Amino acid sequence: MAAILCRATKAIGGCMRGCRGLSQLAELPETHDMLRRTCRDFADRELAPIAARLDKEQTYPAQQILELGAMGVMAMEIPEELGGAGMDYLAYSVAMEEISRGCASTGVVVSVNNSLYLGPILKFGSEVQKQKWITPFTSGHQVGCFALSEPGNGSDAGAASTVAHQDGDHWVLNGTKAWITNSWDAAAAIIFATTDRKLKHKGISAFVVPMPHPGLSLGKKEDKLGIKASSTANIILEDCRIPLENMLGPRGAGFKIAMQTLDSGRIGIAAQALGIAQASLDCAADYAHKRDAFGAPIGKLQAIQFKLADMALAIESARLLTWKAALLRDAKRPFTKEAAMAKLAASEAATFCSHQAIQILGGMGYVTDMPAERHYRDARITEIYEGTSEIQRLVIAGQLLKDYTT
Ligand SMILES: Cc1cc2nc3c(=O)[nH]c(=O)nc-3n(C[C@H](O)[C@H](O)[C@H](O)COP(=O)(O)OP(=O)(O)OC[C@H]3O[C@@H](n4cnc5c(N)ncnc54)[C@H](O)[C@@H]3O)c2cc1C
Repeated sequence: MAAILCRATKAIGGCMRGCRGLSQLAELPETHDMLRRTCRDFADRELAPIAARLDKEQTYPAQQILELGAMGVMAMEIPEELGGAGMDYLAYSVAMEEISRGCASTGVVVSVNNSLYLGPILKFGSEVQKQKWITPFTSGHQVGCFALSEPGNGSDAGAASTVAHQDGDHWVLNGTKAWITNSWDAAAAIIFATTDRKLKHKGISAFVVPMPHPGLSLGKKEDKLGIKASSTANIILEDCRIPLENMLGPRGAGFKIAMQTLDSGRIGIAAQALGIAQASLDCAADYAHKRDAFGAPIGKLQAIQFKLADMALAIESARLLTWKAALLRDAKRPFTKEAAMAKLAASEAATFCSHQAIQILGGMGYVTDMPAERHYRDARITEIYEGTSEIQRLVIAGQLLKDYTT
């Protein structure tokens, strides 16, 4: 499998260089399509059959994450010399969708490691930091996390109250970060803390902190509605001392690092939402063929057909937006608005499709014998983390109005 991805990587490089723009969006390049089939096969064989158990037992998918690491999926954009797969963001989106179609919890573990942990270190880290904090996190043996939110502020991330002060050759961190995905399973965290409170968001800096570490403790595992196989908890910092060289990027650049990281991360969450939406449609369409009512399969009923058509429409449009955002990022063009549009459209598609799937399955949609109820629970978070739907609308409108003034 790793060899297939490796061949795909090389071909993708050539394919993307030849990509003349966004007109090729309707079809994936052949190599990305091959990657898609590889990840789909893995998700069908290794993830979908155990997703319900992982969800029920709230178990971290350690073995599957190792296998995804061996395939290159835990570090898709990281250059090969640092241990990654050296692929582009379109490839990452395609892989994320397929993995999440099999198991949305596994999808978020993959997403946080790729876009929220490795992404900012690749972009803002020194060469020494890249060697130390990227390479060991590419194989699936270790995963990272990203700690921006706090109990008192989520959407308003600039209001961070966690502080870092310098004491000799160390930074000393104090405060609480909230809702941190992967926290119970992570070997390092990117933590945002204020180094100069009077500068407000311009006084926030980013730090890489190993886990476990003296002065850093974890809160209880949150008992969530969905994505239950991924861990979420507070990170509590009490005189947590880290060497000065653990600051990521310049002092005061933390807010910029966080916002740019979330721009990219939203493409991954859009892809996760697409996977959940597609899994809901797959389950509903299959059931519509098999379930008879009034002497014929329910799929013959126009009421059911309209639901399936609306689901397919929502998925296909959100997928095109997601690929467009990824292609813009790969082409090093601005993509903030498109990433927000993709996340908004895909997360609302996931909520809509999983709701419709339950309706199509009737009573069978409401019980854990079928995956529809899990998709419904998993879908909901995609409208909340990495910026709520309201925040995506603010980002889109802000960019849009800027476009009209220039
Ligand atoms: C399962 C899970 C995993 C998470 N993982 C992480 C993680 O790994 N790292 C991390 O740092 N954070 C993480 N988060 C936190 C997540 O990003 C925040 O929950 C999210 O940003 C919303 O913040 P909040 O919960 O404080 O809601 P609030 O910001 O308090 O918002 C409450 C409501 O007000 C609305 N609202 C707020 N401001 C505005 C505005 N200006 N205009 C219009 N409406 C507004 C919101 O849209 C929302 O509907 C996670 C959360 C969950 C639940």
